[in-house]
Amino acid sequence: MFGEKELYSLKMRAAQGGPHEKGGRHISGSERIIEKNAVDKEVLAMLERAKYHQRGAADFISIKVELIKKEQIRYRQLLAFSQCEAASVEAGRKVALAELESAGVTPLAARKGLQAIAALPDSMRGAMLVNAVTGSRMDDLGNRGVRVTNMDVDDAEKFATALAQHGLQGDHVREALVLASKVAGGEGVVAELCWSDDPLYVTGYVGSAKNGYRRIQVLKKLHDSVGGRVFFIRPDTDVPALIHYLQEQVIFIRTGESASVD
Ligand code: AMP
Repeated sequence: MFGEKELYSLKMRAAQGGPHEKGGRHISGSERIIEKNAVDKEVLAMLERAKYHQRGAADFISIKVELIKKEQIRYRQLLAFSQCEAASVEAGRKVALAELESAGVTPLAARKGLQAIAALPDSMRGAMLVNAVTGSRMDDLGNRGVRVTNMDVDDAEKFATALAQHGLQGDHVREALVLASKVAGGEGVVAELCWSDDPLYVTGYVGSAKNGYRRIQVLKKLHDSVGGRVFFIRPDTDVPALIHYLQEQVIFIRTGESASVD
């Protein structure tokens, strides 16, 4: 646990051709919450990741460091992890649709949401909010989307042990599990669909409070550098409140006994 030590939020975003807000192409981003004495090391690690990302060389990198107030912190449970079988992109996307439906998304919305990622000309920085019944877009954040920040695990050792039990390692799955757990705990969220924009990482997932984190081995072709996220939400969702939760609310993910279903 973090105890009484001071905590800082670190946010990195990198782009090519200038800053995102001036039309630069999104290269990579990353979020952590860490103790004060680890800030210097993590800032350097983020800088290295930003400079040498598979999507290309960044010429704009922003790293923001902010003190977190203890009274801002809320907690959510780590989603249970399990794996779906899929040997091809086609099979993986079929599984994704079935998983979304099982989580409560209509077949129409699931298809439209998946298609919205597949049709992107290039990766967005954030996620699209999509109506879980009709499949229409519900945020007005355009190409930027909703960027989920201000989250981390509350016990890094326990979390690493839980991942190791599933033979999981690496930044991708670590960050995705934390993000998916925060997202699934948002008021109005039914499910999430994600696949990476890293051209060498073809794995994705469907996350939901109902079924947990369902990893899908293949969701895109190797060397495809377009990925994305869709958060499917109930039609009656208070969208501004949800966006505030996703972007601003500080969430620590607890690794409990229910962190596994298989
Ligand atoms: P990644 O899993 O980091 O390769 O990201 C895949 C896609 O998910 C990116 O292209 C973005 O569109 C989206 N994404 C990445 N990080 C976030 C985030 N913190 N919040 C919302 N969407 C994100």
